[in-house]
Amino acid sequence: MNVTTLPKPPRVGLVSLGCPKALVDSERIMTKLRADGYDMSPDYAGADVVLVNTCGFLDSAKEESLEAIGEAIAENGRVVVTGCMGKEAEVIRERFPDVLAVTGPQQYEEVVAAVHEAAPPIPSPFIDLVPEAGLKLTPRHYSYLKISEGCNHRCAFCIIPHLRGDLVSRRPDAILREAEKLVAAGTRELLVISQDTSAYGVDIRHQPRPWKGEEVRAHMTDLARELGKLGAWVRLHYVYPYPHVNDVIPLMAEGLVLPYLDIPFQHASPNVLRRMRRPANDAKVLERIRNWRAQVPDLAIRSSFVVGFPGETEEDFAYLLAWLEEAQLDRVGAFKFEAVEGAPATAMNDQVPDALKQERFEAVMALSSRISSEKLAAKVGSRIDVLIDAVDDATGGATGRSKADAPEIDGEVHLRDAGGLQPGDIVRVHVEDADEHDLFGVPEELAALPA
Ligand code: SF4
Repeated sequence: MNVTTLPKPPRVGLVSLGCPKALVDSERIMTKLRADGYDMSPDYAGADVVLVNTCGFLDSAKEESLEAIGEAIAENGRVVVTGCMGKEAEVIRERFPDVLAVTGPQQYEEVVAAVHEAAPPIPSPFIDLVPEAGLKLTPRHYSYLKISEGCNHRCAFCIIPHLRGDLVSRRPDAILREAEKLVAAGTRELLVISQDTSAYGVDIRHQPRPWKGEEVRAHMTDLARELGKLGAWVRLHYVYPYPHVNDVIPLMAEGLVLPYLDIPFQHASPNVLRRMRRPANDAKVLERIRNWRAQVPDLAIRSSFVVGFPGETEEDFAYLLAWLEEAQLDRVGAFKFEAVEGAPATAMNDQVPDALKQERFEAVMALSSRISSEKLAAKVGSRIDVLIDAVDDATGGATGRSKADAPEIDGEVHLRDAGGLQPGDIVRVHVEDADEHDLFGVPEELAALPA
């Protein structure tokens, strides 16, 4: 059996000087770096890069900061400086020409970008929440909004809790403030991500926080409702089908949240789900999907499935295929089970041979492609809203996504005669054609013109 060994994440050392405010800045930067997959190093020797958060309040504090930078350069050599003394970049550079980057106080994005450049994170499909390309290429008009880190579950194929720890939810007001800023800066679509979005706030007992004169609970439903009021599309990822997911469906019916749910089911057979130790392993999930669709007929459900999990029998697999036929999910990603170092499933008996995994993978892909083709063909002739991602000046065409399509992982809508549109525009589109994954159409004004 092949076992995938995960790459060692880069390590960041931190020297944090100054007042409590600077300490909070350091915590915020480190939280972001941890979320990006970095490890912390307790010493200079083990760090791939050292971050010095400086204080410039008094001359003595400045001197202490300069000494700390000097020590980090001498001990490690790869140093990024941030904090109050960052305002005096020329003083730092004059004394330490080898510092890799100098950023000022509260320039979180700049300092995180400088660390990324100095010690690039190593992408891994086993632990990253967003596709590798999505991290680097997120354009201004859509943004990932991370609401928590870590996970309280212990799925047998997963090493995330081991790497990132138990669930730690962000405060709802902090998330909403970040979302509000993103929308003010041009974001038209907020992609809510976490390891387990429906568990948001469990660790902080759904504690409410003041927001715009009222209180908002740290709870998926409350957060989704408030995000929906900001005027951008709100797309929910990694939602486990706990009973309270029923409560976000009315928000979709009201138009506050996109009619889209990304639910990583991973399997359907109760036996396999039990062996996988999956959360929200609800036998009545098909019935619930039917109920959701009765309330929101255009609800798009995307999911991913693992085939060839240890112990998956022919009956289990047949159950999965029948379930998929019944569930009629809009988007399906399939993966062959891979043994990952440190995951309990790696040591399980009854590993499925590679050839059988491949066969099952192809069967799931074939079925889901057929279902996807049929569902997309049914949209031909309809009118849908499309968020433009890219325009092609040479052809006059454009590419965008409907409410049913998340960036990078779902399909696209290809437009002809789309001159004058810009990325970030939302246009009404007449759907003219469809294939297995994508739709093809034309902006509505043009479609309305007589032939
Ligand atoms: S829910 Fe399971 S698969 Fe998802 S992060 Fe938690 S342990 Fe891993």
